[in-house]
Amino acid sequence: MKNAEQYLAELMKAMQDFEHREFTDAQSQDAALTELLKRPHTMLEEMHQENVTTPNYWECDCEDKYLNPVKGNIECEQCHVTADDALDARLHDVLVNMINGEYLSI
Ligand SMILES: [Zn+2]
Repeated sequence: MKNAEQYLAELMKAMQDFEHREFTDAQSQDAALTELLKRPHTMLEEMHQENVTTPNYWECDCEDKYLNPVKGNIECEQCHVTADDALDARLHDVLVNMINGEYLSI
């Protein structure tokens, strides 16, 4: 199972490969770009399927906003689960729900 750093390295490598590739026509360049742009989605799916976790967040029992940064409160004020008792958060959930450690406002 890959961790966040390995996913990021894989994505960077794919982007660099694309940047250094020589294309003979616009169609093949477009096709390669389309493939490249599918990568983040494919990675998110894989993280979801494999339940990849991150040590930077923990999950409390709240229905909503259950992701808690490790560098934050050690106990959830709503459900009173503590960081020590909680499981590491799923990376997919963090990436889909948060930006800069704050929940994305939808
Ligand atoms: Zn909670």
